[in-house]
Amino acid sequence: AAANPVAALWKNSEQHPDRIAVRSGPRTLTYADLRARIARAAARFAAAGVGPGDRVLLIAPTIPEFPIVYYGLHTLGATVITMNVMSTVPEIQYVVEDSGTMLIVAWRDCATNACAVAEQRGLPFTEIRPFEEDPTEIEGVTTYVERAEHETAVILYTSGTTGKPKGAQLSIANVNAAPQAFREALRLHDTERWATALPLFHCFGQVVVMHGALTWAGTLSLMSPFTPTEFMDRLRDEHITIACGVPTMWNAMLQITGGYTPGDFADLRLACSGGASLPGEVIRVFEERFGCSILEGYGLTETAGTATFRNLDGPPKVGTVGTALPGFRIEIRDPDGTVLPAGEVGEIVITGPTVMTGYWNRPDATAAELVDGWLRTGDLGSMDADGDIRIVDRAKDLIIRGGYNVYPREVEEVLYTHPDIVEVAVIGVPDDHYGEEIAAVIAARPGTTIEQDALREWAKERLSAYKVPRIVHVVDELPKGATGKILKRAIDRAPFASVP
Ligand code: ATP
Repeated sequence: AAANPVAALWKNSEQHPDRIAVRSGPRTLTYADLRARIARAAARFAAAGVGPGDRVLLIAPTIPEFPIVYYGLHTLGATVITMNVMSTVPEIQYVVEDSGTMLIVAWRDCATNACAVAEQRGLPFTEIRPFEEDPTEIEGVTTYVERAEHETAVILYTSGTTGKPKGAQLSIANVNAAPQAFREALRLHDTERWATALPLFHCFGQVVVMHGALTWAGTLSLMSPFTPTEFMDRLRDEHITIACGVPTMWNAMLQITGGYTPGDFADLRLACSGGASLPGEVIRVFEERFGCSILEGYGLTETAGTATFRNLDGPPKVGTVGTALPGFRIEIRDPDGTVLPAGEVGEIVITGPTVMTGYWNRPDATAAELVDGWLRTGDLGSMDADGDIRIVDRAKDLIIRGGYNVYPREVEEVLYTHPDIVEVAVIGVPDDHYGEEIAAVIAARPGTTIEQDALREWAKERLSAYKVPRIVHVVDELPKGATGKILKRAIDRAPFASVP
């Protein structure tokens, strides 16, 4: 079928021209404004030679200009590649070369590296400026290009822990299926007000939140950078109904104890969390303080951020990420591909309408991870009799201590219930005797100190002895990835090299 990711937005601009589509503090765009700006952006990109299937790299933060450029490119049928605003010259070079990018577009405040790469490679470069400065005399395009549903809408590079990043190709059908699944699962209304500080270059912010909000004619409030008090002020002042973020953001908001009452968030219906596991303790305290459900979902770049969601009805089944979304199937398989029964831990595999068509230019990786339409996630998990999925850990984070499997997540869950721990990452560090030893890297509540021995005693009452972190290391802050996820591979391992 003919399709374009911008089609729903086009329709919304006709049905709800005066509704605010995107805002960032006082800067607002109605659906009619947004469409006019998208149409003008498309006209400018068409003049630069962009056409169907051309790869264009977009680098911009979480601001209204992002959707203007993103949908402007889709209007022409281009394939959009998005990258972190912090990307370095070699990282951009790699993606530009790998993808065959023909134009680079970047927000003016993060344009230096992108511009340098464009110059080196003799590619055209367009700087994005605040939309208020846009010339309005340009004639916008009057229609969008119809493409086939299986054609690639976006290529999102996943960092990966080994080897070079791979470009996950999401088709037009894939990116349109994500909002569809969420609408059903979350019973979205036609007038939701969304807020997010997620990066828009990542699948969660881009496909689930931005594309979801604009597909269903919502109002999308964008914020960057994230600060917990400003985000909470927006939830209150803009009467937000759906807030979307990663666990570190909810956790940061829970550290703000004064100045707000649950009544301030009376309009907030749902908080949607994803990207990393949400500690049970955060769910409990959040629901108490904000008076609204916090729902956790699970997905990967390779599934447009979409695969499971906690059921809206009933209390949270703590420790699970809910069931497969409508139209998706999930199985737990052992390494030889046998489907495992309920309760057993194996690799999570997913099939459904958002599963990527493959990695760009990587037939080997595609064949290894995408088998008969089923995506191998590299995540370990189990499924209970109700179909609820429990993510045990990433296969690559598993710690094997003296022959025992220790899942860091389980240990982290327990440590998060400690009153003085704000953030924690449990990692395996090399050990002569056990092969690996368990280390807890902790950010403590300001003004408290965490003693290694005392914490080990505390943990021993709650965890089997072999799971208790023997090494406790306190840091000011844990390294985070672009989405705010704690980045285990970026933790400084030097302090653990000399541990006896
Ligand atoms: P990599 O660095 O390996 O590319 P990434 O974080 O950049 O990873 P994403 O595709 O954003 O890549 O992350 C997907 C992964 O995030 C999943 O495979 C899973 O391990 C983890 N994840 C996502 N949601 C959840 C959740 N709700 N609970 C636990 N883990 C989750």
